[in-house]
Amino acid sequence: MINRDTPTRKNSATVFTNKVLLVLLSASLSVSASGAADIRLVLQITVDQLRGDLPLRHMEQFGKGGFRYLQDKGVWYTNATYRHANTETIVGHSSLATGALPATHGMIGNVWLDQDTGQLVYNVEDTNYNLITADADVDKASEIDPTQRVATSEGRSPRALLSSTFSDELAIRYSHKSKIFAVSVKDRGAIPLAGDSGKAFWFSKAAGEFVTSSFYYDAYPQWVIDWNSAGKLDRYANKQWELLLAPDNYQRIGQDDNAWETDFPGYGRTFPHPWGERDSKYFTTLLTVSPAGDELTLDFAKTLLRAEGLGQDATPDYLSISFSSTDYVGHLFGSSSLEMEDNLLRLDRTLAELFAFIDREVGLKHTLIVLSADHGGPEAPGYLQELQQDASHVDPGQFSTEALNAGLQQALGVNADLVHTYFHPYVYLDHKKVTAAGLDLETTQRALSATLMALPSVAYSFTASDISRGQIKDNPIAAMVAANHQPKRSGDVYVVFRSQSFINDFDGLEVAATHGSVWRYDRHVPVVFAGNGLKGRVISRPVTPYDIAPTLANKLAIEVPSGAVGEPLPEITE
Ligand SMILES: [Zn+2]
Repeated sequence: MINRDTPTRKNSATVFTNKVLLVLLSASLSVSASGAADIRLVLQITVDQLRGDLPLRHMEQFGKGGFRYLQDKGVWYTNATYRHANTETIVGHSSLATGALPATHGMIGNVWLDQDTGQLVYNVEDTNYNLITADADVDKASEIDPTQRVATSEGRSPRALLSSTFSDELAIRYSHKSKIFAVSVKDRGAIPLAGDSGKAFWFSKAAGEFVTSSFYYDAYPQWVIDWNSAGKLDRYANKQWELLLAPDNYQRIGQDDNAWETDFPGYGRTFPHPWGERDSKYFTTLLTVSPAGDELTLDFAKTLLRAEGLGQDATPDYLSISFSSTDYVGHLFGSSSLEMEDNLLRLDRTLAELFAFIDREVGLKHTLIVLSADHGGPEAPGYLQELQQDASHVDPGQFSTEALNAGLQQALGVNADLVHTYFHPYVYLDHKKVTAAGLDLETTQRALSATLMALPSVAYSFTASDISRGQIKDNPIAAMVAANHQPKRSGDVYVVFRSQSFINDFDGLEVAATHGSVWRYDRHVPVVFAGNGLKGRVISRPVTPYDIAPTLANKLAIEVPSGAVGEPLPEITE
């Protein structure tokens, strides 16, 4: 026990005793914490939409120092799956940050309905703040991400997160001495990982710069201004995304032109894919739909690490990098396209460059690396159909507000438009109109659920009332829907499409594939730990990405985030 003497009673003897006790205490901590004292940097890498099998599929083609470093020198969990239903970007990133289920961390979807205001809300938007850069808000005329377009304000913060993050706990343990940063092309790929105490940066396609909000800074550090004014994007202007290697190095060579890939105007379905002129409308968008987005993210992260001096002393720092290109490439071209194959070969080079840089600047032995993904991804239904498999794009017309209202009116014999909106994965009723029509919520939800179940593309639908009362147990899919249920945010009915079926309409742009389902291909992700003296192992035991935050916390002998349900992985902590 440490003597808690008041200052007035303090004498040199007790001060000396306290010092000795503190030294002894910290010495014993550094031993019991499995070498935590050696960790100067925690590097958390997220690859957006990297399904668990994809890096293994291409391992033979990879160079040295990237994925092969992770396989040879890291602990690779080959059966890591999320256990929540809505496998979307903010949901997965928040689970990686907190070790919690969405029912607990509250990020239940990229978008949800605020029943009080009747407005859809974008997960990290916050009207209390603004972007530091002028005119960097989402440009709704050129934004192809339909969830980004929902935001009605430009400010961003992590305030909608309802659980603490690993980075928050690190900040509590080491106060302002731990440097905590998160970077991604996507705001929702950076903000949850930085937590409340860290700093997040993301890429504004409108401004062509990495930006942040007034939640984090009053003004940019000079290095950010310098990076943004260095013309880093110019080298891609009037150039094109070409194959990295000679054609005979590819599994899918000769299979580049597929009707099921997205033929984005000016970008096309086949290599090479031109990025266009520097000032053309979609230039920055197309950079993100190619490995260039990851290259820019890496460049920014390297500049950040040097400028902020991460990993330079015994106090552990934290850097999260979420690479978004794999997600955009997966959406436009599918998991089994030549574009995805080349993207992964280039991602491998990007990772190799990152690890070599970290080794020079910090030392891999002082760095604990963890790599995972926010979700997996499906195959393009068109590709599966070529293989005689049962797969389809779901007709969005059947899920329009008008169609759903017509079905519900017929079922209940009412005239009111009771359905507010369908935004994947939830259908939201207008609660005020339900009450005004003299109906109770549970009856209305049940009628809506029955209407949805009549559609051939719907495999399951679950009402919020049944989920809240725990009436849907003994069904693994229902359990995942319940794990996604936050009573103040989740909608009235959760819609589950059949396996290998989904809506691929991005507000008019038909894309090859969309994740967000309960099915395993969307929940399966790699979990790999490396660095800090870990030895190469492959572990096939089922684990979850919720285990990552508790594992990091245990490794550093700090408190586990407040909502975490994952468990520390013994291969890393013991
Ligand atoms: Zn994602």
